This record gives sequence, C-alpha cells and structure tokens, in this order.
Amino acid sequence: MCEVREASVACLGGGSLNISKKEINNKKIHEVFITDAEDLESTFLLKEGSYKEIHLKFCNSLLEKDNYIFVSYIFKLDNNYCLIGERKNVEDKEALEKISLLNNELANKTRKLTKKNKKLQQAKDEIEKLSKTDELTGLANRRHFMNYLQKIFSQAQRYSQSLSLVMIDLDKFKNINDTYGHDAGDKVLSALGDLLNNETRNEDLAARIGGEEFIVILTQTDLNDARNYAERIRKKISKLNIESIPVKITASLGVATMKNNDDYESIFNRADEALYKAKNSGRDKVCKYKGYKL
Ligand code: GH3
Ligand code: MG
Ligand code: MG
Repeated sequence: MCEVREASVACLGGGSLNISKKEINNKKIHEVFITDAEDLESTFLLKEGSYKEIHLKFCNSLLEKDNYIFVSYIFKLDNNYCLIGERKNVEDKEALEKISLLNNELANKTRKLTKKNKKLQQAKDEIEKLSKTDELTGLANRRHFMNYLQKIFSQAQRYSQSLSLVMIDLDKFKNINDTYGHDAGDKVLSALGDLLNNETRNEDLAARIGGEEFIVILTQTDLNDARNYAERIRKKISKLNIESIPVKITASLGVATMKNNDDYESIFNRADEALYKAKNSGRDKVCKYKGYKL
C-alpha cells in the first residue's frame, strides 16, 4: 500500500475538507480513503502531467461524519500527487446512482419497446397483406383489385399508356363441384390461382373477384396482345391436370381495353360483357368487347 504523499496532503488540507496535515501524514492510503484499492493503487502509476477521475470516501477516523464523497481528479506533478475535486453528499451520490439505474432501465425499456414496435409493424403488414389477399388462391381479392385498377387506370390515362383487362370464369364449375366434391373444386381454383400467378408480370395484377371468377390487369398492353395473352391462358386452363378430376376443365374469357373518355368501371363492365359473350357463344373461348374492331 502506498504512503499518502505531501502534495495530496496539501490539497486535502485545503478548502472545505478540514483535515489537518498532521492527521494525514505518515498514514497508509487505505487509512485515509475508503475506495477501491486497485483504483487508488493505479493512481500512483500515473504518468507525469496525466490525470485520473476517482471517487473517494474518507475513513471515519479522519472525519467525524462519513456522509460525503469526494469526486476528484488526481494529477501527478513532479513526485507529488495533487487532488482537485468537488465534495458531494452521499445522498447526491445515491441520487446519481439512482439516476444511472433509471437511465439503464429506460434504455432497456426503450430497447424492448423498439422490438415490440417492430413486431407490431410486422403484424400490421401481415394484416394488411391478408386484407388484400384471397385466402384460397393467394391472389388479390376483389376489393384490392378494384382499388388497384382505379389507381393504375388513372396512371395509364395520364401517361397515355394502353391498359387491358382479361376476365375469366370457369365453365360449368357447379358440375365439377357436384360430381367430384367441393374439395376437388377448391383444388381447381387453387391451381388456376397458381397458373395466373405464374403468368402475371410484376407490374400487372391477377385477382379472384368471385367464386370461380378471376381477372387480370395487363398494363401497357393493347387489345391484340391482351387477346393473345387470354388465348394462352385459355389453352393452359384446358390442360390443367387436377388429381381426382378426370374431365377437361375449361374457362371462358372476356377481353377489354382502355379507350378515350373511359373510366375504370366502364372498362371492367366491358370485360364482363365480353365474358358473357364467350359464355353465350359456346364457352371455352376468348371474346373481346363487341365494340372493338381488330
Ligand atoms: P357457367 O359456365 O355458366 O359459369 O357455369 P358455372 O356452373 O360455372 O356457374 P354458376 O354460377 O352456376 O356456378 C358457380 C359455381 O362455383 C357454384 C359454386 O358452388 C362454385 N363455387 C363458388 N365459389 C367456390 C369455392 O370457393 N369453392 C368451390 N369448390 N366452388 C365454388
Ligand atoms: Mg362459371
Ligand atoms: Mg361465375
């Protein structure tokens, strides 16, 4: 243990501490301070001119009341040590410790809150996704489709881009259900969902808008290309191979394209009208809206 040096004594003796030089002289350091011994020992390894922050508490024998601490800096000057610091009440220290604990607690709580907020956001995203999705097929549902159509339609009008719709309705689907069961019918719907999902570009949207009714928005696509797309889909549907359904599955498709002075509801109705035409003219067909010449 190190001896208390003259310089330290001089500093301690000054100011408000009121400890006489005589009281401190020739005392071992641990007889003067109650503090972390290692902390104090390392003080005496300080390089010339460097300093160190240290929290000191005086021994009872030196000061009658052990009710304050000394938050101080120890400097090494020549061979002496100079202590400059501020006296703090023990209560202050306790308050500081309490504040520090509260700060830690606050930091922990903030961290937990951030984590929970992230989970909440993920849950919200999931709910939003579910609210836009048809459960059976994973395609967009009718509500999301109509919202998207409205948005994409006005965008296409603003930039004078072409836009087409292909509406699809499975033929005699009631018979499929009645003959092979509702579960088998569901498999057909789900397979058609996969087919449309695979055949739809990122900027386009396929949706299930009714029991066995589907629709696809084709952006930047004119009537001719939309009809070719619909024909390709019709052929693929007729080749669907569903376990436990030994008959050919077919669909009727109606195509409509955007025209001048149009709105999103009109184009939707025209696609529906074209589909109706396909149904009435024998099914397993693609028809365009009757007003179009191609
Ligand atoms: P059409 O060629 O005229 O379209 O005849 P359709 O039998 O397909 O049409 P209809 O409107 O008479 O019947 C539609 C059938 O679709 C009846 C219904 O049971 C079936 N359907 C609707 N939603 C679902 C579903 O979620 N799952 C299954 N398995 N069947 C469904
Ligand atoms: Mg049908
Ligand atoms: Mg139908």
